[in-house]
Amino acid sequence: MPTYDYACDSCGNRFEVFQKMSDQPVNTCPSCGKAVRRVLSGGVGISFKGSGFYKNDSAPSCGNSTACAKASCGADK
Ligand SMILES: [Zn+2]
Repeated sequence: MPTYDYACDSCGNRFEVFQKMSDQPVNTCPSCGKAVRRVLSGGVGISFKGSGFYKNDSAPSCGNSTACAKASCGADK
């Protein structure tokens, strides 16, 4: 199943979505509801390595401590 990475420019949230080709693309940020942009895995202009970065990282750079949708995010704990 292809994995899509998304980034929100509004709150800095980054997340990864497993989608079938037939699924609707994600257009809005689960944290702030603003528009997100899709980031190609492997990174065009982004230095992150590996698709596991978003899932497993504790998101020290998460800028939204009140409404971060990442279960692994420790910002509001
Ligand atoms: Zn956001």
